[in-house]
Amino acid sequence: MNALSSIEESAISINASKVVSRLQDNGFQAYLVGGCIRDLLLSKSPKDFDIATDAHPEDVRELFRNSRIIGKRFRIVHVRFGREIIEVTTFRGPHADEYDENHSDSGRTLSDNVYGSFEEDVFRRDFTMNAIYYNQREKELVDLADGIKDIENKIIRTIGDPEDRLREDPVRMLRAIRFQGKLGFSLETELERSIKSLGHLIQDVPAARLFEEALKLFLSGYGTAAFESMMNNNMYGWLFPESRRSMENNATEELVRLALTSTDQRIAKEMPVTPAFVLAAMLWYPFVEEKERLEQEDGITHLTAANEAANNVISKQQLFTSIPKRFSGMMRDIWFLQSRLPARFGKKPDRTLEHKRFRAAYDFLLLREQAGEKTEQLGEWWTEYQEATEERKQAMKQSTGKGQKRKRKRKPRPKTDSNDKVSLH
Ligand code: ATP
Ligand code: MG
Repeated sequence: MNALSSIEESAISINASKVVSRLQDNGFQAYLVGGCIRDLLLSKSPKDFDIATDAHPEDVRELFRNSRIIGKRFRIVHVRFGREIIEVTTFRGPHADEYDENHSDSGRTLSDNVYGSFEEDVFRRDFTMNAIYYNQREKELVDLADGIKDIENKIIRTIGDPEDRLREDPVRMLRAIRFQGKLGFSLETELERSIKSLGHLIQDVPAARLFEEALKLFLSGYGTAAFESMMNNNMYGWLFPESRRSMENNATEELVRLALTSTDQRIAKEMPVTPAFVLAAMLWYPFVEEKERLEQEDGITHLTAANEAANNVISKQQLFTSIPKRFSGMMRDIWFLQSRLPARFGKKPDRTLEHKRFRAAYDFLLLREQAGEKTEQLGEWWTEYQEATEERKQAMKQSTGKGQKRKRKRKPRPKTDSNDKVSLH
C-alpha cells in the first residue's frame, strides 16, 4: 500500500460527512471530490469540501432544509452549516456548461443532458489531481483519471488534451498556475506549452469571473509564487496589461512582489488583507505616469489630474478584471494619500493620520521606498511621528515645515475647468 492510498478520516468536515451519509441513506451516490481530496492526500487542510452526486439539485434541496440552489445554467446546491458551506454538484454530462456557476447568464433553458453519469463527471474535471473521488462509506478512493500517480510525482496534468481543455475554459490556465503556486507542483510539459501560447484566450472570459480568479491567485496565501508563475508563463499581461507594460521602465515588478510578500505574510499570521492594496501596487506607476501626462495639459490642477488619472487607469483595468467599488475606492484613497504624506506642517500631519486609510497608505509608502523610490526618508519620518510625544511632534513639524515652506514656491495655478468639482475621498 503506498503512502497516498488513504484518507485521514478525522480531517474530513463533519458537516460534509453528514451530507454524504444523508444522500447515501436516500439511495443516491455521493462522493467527496476535488480540492478536498487532493489536499487531504497531501496532508494539507482543505479550504472547502465539495460533493458530487447523482441526485438532482431539487432532490438535494429537499433533503436539506439549510440549502439553496445557486447558478442558472448549471445549478449547484449550497448546504449551509453556520459559516461552512458544503457545495453539492450533480454529476456533469458532456454538455454541461463551463465551471462558472456564479456568472452564467440567465434565461437560457437547461438542456436535458447537462447531467451525466459518474464516468462523465470524472472526465469533465480539469486536472487529474482534482478528479479523485472518495466514497466515505466504503472508505474507498476512486481514481479513474490516475490522479494519485500525478500527485505523487507533483505534476499538474489536464484530463485529455491540454489545448482542447484550455480552449474549452481558459480559466483553467489560471487554475493551473494557482495550484502550481500553492502546491509547488510542476506543469506537465504540454500543458505548460499550451498555457504559454494560449494566454490571449483569457480575453474572452468575463471580467467578473477574472476578478474572482485574481482574488484566488493573489489573496490565498501563495500570491508571490502565483505571481512568479504568471510572469514565467506570459500570463500576467493578459490580466493586467497596463501593469505589465509599466514594468518595462518602472519599479512595478518589485512593488508588486513586495505587496504580495506582505499579503502572504499577513495571511500566514491570520491578519486581514485586501485586494485593494495589491491592485494599488500593480497600478501605482501607471497611475503616476497618467497623472504626469495629464499635468502637462493647460489649466489642470494636481487634484483634477490625480482624479482623472485614477479614473482612467481603473476603468482601463476594468475591461479585464472587474474591480468592485469598495476596492476601487480604497485604491484611490491609498494613491491620493501618497501625495498628502509629504505635507508635514501645521495641522496637516494630524489630519492625514486620522484618515481611515492612513495605515494602508503608510504601509504603501514603505513599499515604494523599498522598491527604490526616492522619498527623502518620508517613511522614517512617519514611523517616528506616529510614536512621538506631543513635544517631539511639534519639533518634527517645525523642522520639516521650514524646509517645506522654502520649497513651496510654485507657479500660480491657472484657473481650472469644471471637472474640478470631483473631490478626493
Ligand atoms: P480549492 O482548493 O481552491 O478549493 P478546488 O480544486 O477544490 O481547489 P474548486 O473551484 O473548489 O477548486 O472546484 C472544485 C472541483 O471542481 C475541482 O477540484 C475540479 O474537479 C472541478 N472544477 C472546478 N473548476 C473547474 C473548471 N474550470 N474546469 C473543470 N473542472 C473544474
Ligand atoms: Mg474546493
